[in-house]
Amino acid sequence: MEALVLEKKDVLSLRDIKLDEKLGPHDVRIDLHTVGVCGSDVHYYTHGAIGPFIVREPMVLGHEASGTVTELGSEVENLKVGDRVCMEPGIPDPNSRATRLGIYNLDPAVRFWATPPVHGVLRPSVVHPAAFTFKLPDNISYAEGAMVEPLAVGMHAANKAQIKPGDVAVVMGAGPIGMVTALAALAGGCSQIIMTDVQQPKLELAAKLGPIRPVNVAKENVLEVVNELTDNWGADLVFECSGNERAAAGVFAPLRPGGTVVFVGIPLEPVAYRVAEAQVKEARVENIFRYAHVYPRALALMGSGKIDVKPLITDTFAFKDSVEAFDYCVNMPPTSVKAQIKLA
Ligand code: ZN
Repeated sequence: MEALVLEKKDVLSLRDIKLDEKLGPHDVRIDLHTVGVCGSDVHYYTHGAIGPFIVREPMVLGHEASGTVTELGSEVENLKVGDRVCMEPGIPDPNSRATRLGIYNLDPAVRFWATPPVHGVLRPSVVHPAAFTFKLPDNISYAEGAMVEPLAVGMHAANKAQIKPGDVAVVMGAGPIGMVTALAALAGGCSQIIMTDVQQPKLELAAKLGPIRPVNVAKENVLEVVNELTDNWGADLVFECSGNERAAAGVFAPLRPGGTVVFVGIPLEPVAYRVAEAQVKEARVENIFRYAHVYPRALALMGSGKIDVKPLITDTFAFKDSVEAFDYCVNMPPTSVKAQIKLA
């Protein structure tokens, strides 16, 4: 089938690739409709690796996906042919210790789309376990369905934060993950978000999503803004979504005593944060890696209108223009948040 193949670092091609996939009794076959371009896909393209995951053989990219069920395995009961669905891209070993503990996202044996050596889904069809395939509410488009994957990261971060109604949160970084984390935090009960970045157009977009006070840290001091909005008490929660080492080292400054920090963005270099600064505030520090058990709730929030991801979808490309789409994402203008590729 024709797929977007990362041949090696810096080389993408839209070409035929043989992918033999057998439909097991608990699987469904899905025709892909929309696939979002993720920062990780782009990073594999430009660097050929992310940490220990190195592209050694041609690999199909794409993991933020929605589509239509075309075939059912003999034991599948929760879905039917024609269902509009989105898919969790990470399949754990169901018998692993991590999976049995409920932390299946941390299963060392997890097979995650477009993470070497596992192929992604920028291709016409895929076979996937029904247990990791979720029906879209009728009022949710395929494009929104393909946003559930990044939104799931924000949902997981909101869960780890243990938000209480009325919490004030700082979200560092106005990229796609910062945006979906802000949306999840607001849906989870936050009264106010203070969002930081250096790209003014992204901050302006964020300000339209809800009670979000944008702070351009190139021009404004986030501590002053937090102090002003919290009577010098500090923010209840800080979500670090930039992955920037300097930003990540500063997470405790805007935090209130007894507050919680969640590290969401993945810094590629060590972060020099002061443990003493966390200690004097008795800060609770949480970390997340991908997500677990959040797709149904993300879809419920989207279906009920509590979360609207549509403003984040800024660019749409046709499948035949996939290589162009990736080159666009390598040098994405600050006005863009999420680019998607339509296969149907
Ligand atoms: Zn992603």
